[in-house]
Amino acid sequence: MLFNTLISGEKMNTEKLSNRLEAVTKYIPMGTRVADIGSDHAYLPCYAVKKGIVPFAIAGEVVEGPYQSAKKQVEIEGLENQISVRKGNGLEVIKLGEVDCITIAGMGGTLIATILEEGKNKLDTVQRLILQPNLSAVSIRNWLLKHGWELIAEEILEEDGKIYEILAAEKGEPLKPYKNADQGLLMGPFLMEEKSIVFRDKWLGELKNWERILMQLEKAAQTEETEKRKQELRQKIKMVEEVLNQ
Ligand code: SAM
Repeated sequence: MLFNTLISGEKMNTEKLSNRLEAVTKYIPMGTRVADIGSDHAYLPCYAVKKGIVPFAIAGEVVEGPYQSAKKQVEIEGLENQISVRKGNGLEVIKLGEVDCITIAGMGGTLIATILEEGKNKLDTVQRLILQPNLSAVSIRNWLLKHGWELIAEEILEEDGKIYEILAAEKGEPLKPYKNADQGLLMGPFLMEEKSIVFRDKWLGELKNWERILMQLEKAAQTEETEKRKQELRQKIKMVEEVLNQ
């Protein structure tokens, strides 16, 4: 069987996704029409259609190479009637009302938030967003909160030495899941409740990193800028330690 290597040595094909992408597909409601934005080889939509999770999917790609890979994969699988491969930036590949669910995986949280922001006029008829940032999930939670999307589930997992978060959201009461908005936005309200081993590992790693930066800043020339940065870091360290020690 032919495997392709994507993020951090992941090996997958349309029969067997990485644990990361398989976890994303768990949140796709059965029978919905889905758009996978930044689809690369279109493994996720091919898998979702072949497993009977969705009857129709759009694979969106902005870069020519991955767009061609996605087209080729869909042709190899003979899924051209169920998967439409489209080239374009973010949500511009979708027409209003065409899909019920959107997945965006394997990018930074800031880029995912930008894609949602730039395409927000396409989201009126979308029921669910499933977002898998590699970094900065906080940017996505901030965007969801600001735009009336309620987090309904979160997952954190480790694969090949990297830690990934998955966020599922629906339109609703965006503040509902948060007991403490500051900590919740940074660490994830569901993940904070669960406090899994992976979650602890992630935040212990962040704490170590922030402490190291703080020590370097202590040694640097003290300007208004370094003072501000130190204040921010101390605040974040306090927030995270509080959650880990609860
Ligand atoms: N979603 C797949 C996964 O999780 O394995 C592929 C992730 S890959 C690292 C990110 C993909 O997103 C790349 O193929 C890139 O070309 C695409 N991409 C980045 N920005 C995009 C945008 N604004 N619109 C559509 N695709 C984008």
